[in-house]
Amino acid sequence: RSAELLARQADRESAARSYPRRLPIALRRGSGSYVEDADGNVFIDFLNGAGVLPLGHSHPELIGVVQHQAAELAHGLDFPTAVKDEFTTALLSTLPEAMRSTARVHFSGPTGTNAVEAALKLCRTATGRSEVVAFHGGFHGMTAGSLAASSEGSLRASSPGVHFLPFAYCHRCPLGLRPESCDTNCAAYLERVLTGSHTGLARPAAVLLELVQGEGGVVVAPQEFVRRVREVTARLDIPLIVDEVQTGCGRTGRWFAFEHYEIEPDVLVLSKMLSGSGMPTAVVVYHERLDSWRPGAHTGTFRGNQLAFASGTAYLRIARRDGLLETVSARSTQLRRGLDELAARLPQLISEVRSLGLMLGVEFSHADGSPWPEAASATQQEALARGLIVEIGGRADCVVRMLPPLNLDEATAHHALELFGAAVEAVSK
Ligand code: PMP
Repeated sequence: RSAELLARQADRESAARSYPRRLPIALRRGSGSYVEDADGNVFIDFLNGAGVLPLGHSHPELIGVVQHQAAELAHGLDFPTAVKDEFTTALLSTLPEAMRSTARVHFSGPTGTNAVEAALKLCRTATGRSEVVAFHGGFHGMTAGSLAASSEGSLRASSPGVHFLPFAYCHRCPLGLRPESCDTNCAAYLERVLTGSHTGLARPAAVLLELVQGEGGVVVAPQEFVRRVREVTARLDIPLIVDEVQTGCGRTGRWFAFEHYEIEPDVLVLSKMLSGSGMPTAVVVYHERLDSWRPGAHTGTFRGNQLAFASGTAYLRIARRDGLLETVSARSTQLRRGLDELAARLPQLISEVRSLGLMLGVEFSHADGSPWPEAASATQQEALARGLIVEIGGRADCVVRMLPPLNLDEATAHHALELFGAAVEAVSK
C-alpha cells in the first residue's frame, strides 16, 4: 500500500518531494512516539514531523482541545479573541522577566519561514538599514528573504544583501583551527567584519543566528561564541535575531535555547512546536523599541489559527504540569550516553556526537575525517528497516539527526538506541 501511494504521489505531485525520497513510506496514523505506515508497520518516530510534536502524535488532551475549538471558531484573521489573548499570555509567561516586560508579539502566519521573513523586515524597517549578516550552515526558510539568509548551497537561489560569516562548527572548523587552542576566532572575525570599515560591509540591519544549527547538522554553538556575538551586536546597536523555530518551546530542555547561554535576543522567532499539536502557527517576539511598523505594515490571511492558539495554551499547561523540561533533560542524558557509547565502539564510522536537549546529531566521517554521507544514509535505511525513523542533515549530509517527542519515555528511548545501534553495526560490516 505504501508503494502504491508513493507511486501515485510521484505521478501527480511536484518533484520537489523531499522526505519520502529517503523514507519511502506512506503514513497512516501516529500515536505518541510511534507512527504507523499504510501497511501497518510501526516505527519509533524520531523525525517527529520535523520537530513539531512535543507530546508526540495525537496527544489525547490536545485532540480534545482542538476538536472543541474547531466547533467554536477555527480561523480568526488578526481579530482579538479570548483564545488568542490566553495564548499570548501563556507564551509571554515562558519568557525571562526582562524580556516579558518589553516584549511585543507579531503573529506572522503558519510557518517558520513566515516569521523569519517578518523578523527581517521588522529589523530593516526599524533600523533603516538593509544588509543582513547570517552564518554558514544556517537554515531559516524558503521564501526570498529567509532563503537568502540560508546557507545551503543546493537550495539557495541568491543572497541579495546577506553576508555569511563562519559559524563556530568546531568539529570542522571553518577557519581550519583546532578548537582547544582557538579562543573563538570566528567570533573575533565577526567582530572585525562588523566594526572594520575595511571590509566594505555597511552596518547590517540584523544578525540572524541559530544557537543550534538544526538543518546544518545539529551544530551547537559554543558559549563563548554566542556571548561575543551578543556583546558586539549590542555594542553596535545591531538587532540580534535568534531563530528558535527548531530549538524553541522546550526542545533543548529549557523553554528557549538562549537561556542556556544567558543572553537575551532582541528578536526571537518561533514556530514548529509552538502549538504543541502540529497546528501551524509562528510568531516573532521582539523588543518594543523595534516596534516601527505602521498598522497593516505586515499582514497575512492565516495569522489567526485559533486551533493553534488553543492547543498552544494547553501544551504549555500540560508541559508545566508534567514536568516536561525535566523529562527532556533525562532523555537527553540517556540518549546521549547511548550514542557516545556507540561512537566509542565504532570510531571508524562516527566522528562526533552532538546534542542539546532532544536535538541530537551523529556525524559520520571517513578515517581521514572527511564527511561520509553514504554511511549516514545507509544507517538511516538500516534504522528504517528495523523500525526507527531518523533524519539526515548537515552541510555534507553526513549527520544523522534525531528530534524525538519531548515526552519520550525511558523504555522507548532504550529501544530506539538498540535499533540505532544495530543499524550502525550493520553498516559497519
Ligand atoms: N528556521 C529554522 C531554524 C528551521 O529549522 C526551519 C525549518 N526546518 C525554518 C526556519 C523554516 O520553518 P518552516 O519550514 O516552518 O517554514
